[in-house]
Amino acid sequence: LKGKPKIEAAGETLTGVKSVIAVASGKGGVGKSTVAANLAVALAATGKRVGILDADIYGPSLPTLFGLKDKPTMREGKIVPHEAYGVKAMSIGWLVDQEKAVAWRGPMVMGAVRQLMTDVDWGELDILLIDTPPGTGDTHLSLIQSKRLSGAVIVSTPQEMALADMRRGVALFRQTKTPVLGIIENMAWLEMPDGSRQYIFGEGGARKAANALEAPFLGSIPLYPELRQASDEGMPLAAREHPASDSFKELAEKIGK
Ligand code: ADP
Repeated sequence: LKGKPKIEAAGETLTGVKSVIAVASGKGGVGKSTVAANLAVALAATGKRVGILDADIYGPSLPTLFGLKDKPTMREGKIVPHEAYGVKAMSIGWLVDQEKAVAWRGPMVMGAVRQLMTDVDWGELDILLIDTPPGTGDTHLSLIQSKRLSGAVIVSTPQEMALADMRRGVALFRQTKTPVLGIIENMAWLEMPDGSRQYIFGEGGARKAANALEAPFLGSIPLYPELRQASDEGMPLAAREHPASDSFKELAEKIGK
């Protein structure tokens, strides 16, 4: 059967996706969604065909980060993802009422994740990034069970409290034989007007933790007020000229290999 196209299983829309990478974090608020969205834009800029699936049921950020409020359309029973900044984008936020609290039990979360994996018409992609909720819960288990994950990238700040939770995330992926592609340190430092660095959450903690875990350390993203501002404005900084774009490009080159 070599060389013949794969027959699509009912509802299976991931057959054209070469690699599915979960972006995870131990804690919320470490910048996982910001990093995932900018990484997707940077990966697309390197010429990859990229999709991003925001599966953070309890706090979807992609509609804000990409400045897209409209619900996606349907075609032949499949959800057509939005396209922005060279990236195909789908968020659970477009399917649920953003103003209402989401109080879903495990099976509902798992059902929604499965549906997002199978009902979105991704077409041909080199990389699909999945922005997962913080911690290790039903969404992660559901993704692992789907057996479609090629690997996971973990985002953490250098702070010990965040690192402790990150170690648990690494352990879950390893227990389930999902390759940990590496650790990204976010909010690593703040550059002062005199050029010196303020290590607000401690210095080099994520690199040390990565070494101790024998996981690749992929790089650091400093704290940039412009990164926060660009996120709120709905235009990822990676799509503009900024030192942060270069950092995201470097990360994209490592992850896209
Ligand atoms: P998470 O997905 O881990 O909960 P978010 O991506 O929502 O975190 O980021 C939390 C907040 O921190 C947001 O307001 C975001 O704009 C901001 N942020 C994230 N990374 C940075 C950074 N490197 N510099 C400045 N602000 C950042």
